[in-house]
Amino acid sequence: MNDVKSRYNVIKYKDYLYIIQESITDIHPVYKNSPLNLYLLLGSQKALLIDTGCRIEPLKSIVDKLIGEKELMVLNTHAHWDHVLGNMDFKEVFIHANDSHVISKPYNVSFLKDSPYDTIKTHEKFNFLIPPAKKIRILQDGDTFNLGDLIVRVIHAPGHSPGSICLYTNKNELFTGDVAYYGEHFLPKREDFPIVLNTLEKLIKICTANEKFSLFPSHTKTPCDRELLMALKEGIEKIDNLWDARKRHAFFPAYEIKDDKFTYYISLF
Ligand SMILES: [Zn+2]
Repeated sequence: MNDVKSRYNVIKYKDYLYIIQESITDIHPVYKNSPLNLYLLLGSQKALLIDTGCRIEPLKSIVDKLIGEKELMVLNTHAHWDHVLGNMDFKEVFIHANDSHVISKPYNVSFLKDSPYDTIKTHEKFNFLIPPAKKIRILQDGDTFNLGDLIVRVIHAPGHSPGSICLYTNKNELFTGDVAYYGEHFLPKREDFPIVLNTLEKLIKICTANEKFSLFPSHTKTPCDRELLMALKEGIEKIDNLWDARKRHAFFPAYEIKDDKFTYYISLF
């Protein structure tokens, strides 16, 4: 019965912290930021799932096994497709107001149609219109989730998207979503870089106040340390110097610029 190997790679990182990894590259080769990291926090009373992923296969049964009888809360770090397509399996999902309109209706993923991989059949079944969560709940900066012995606080971290959030716990974890990771970065248009830099500055301050924080990004290597935030901020500050070397990306509506640490996709709009 149970011979089919799950596409999710589940890592018990701490007693109360699971990393659930999925390969975004298995959906479409243009996406290089694999693995995608979803996180599950288990407090003494409640559990919190951070993002619901690409949903090549349903996630809920895996989460249900890990949480046992605990009540589950689900949130999205932001509304990009690779973080939210599993929302349909859960009765309610929390998100920041600035991104909520994206996940309140079926998600149109027809841009994935030309994928050469069979994995896309899951989304084809829904005609590339992926149903939303049954109910959306709004988060704001400073909100807390009390899981019992584990407290999780929301930081509004706009830039990557207007409603991006990061989360930190009373046990020294900082979940950065897509605000910071090692890999290919999706940035807003150049005029909005100050928003991104303000957010990175805010996170650097939080990590400077508590040097014990480990960073848990939504893509590629996890965990990381705060050097990631410094390197990314410095890289984005220097994009102006590389501006003339930008190329128009063939798939994303973005300019592409590389430095020695990161690739940046800078939105045209
Ligand atoms: Zn994103």
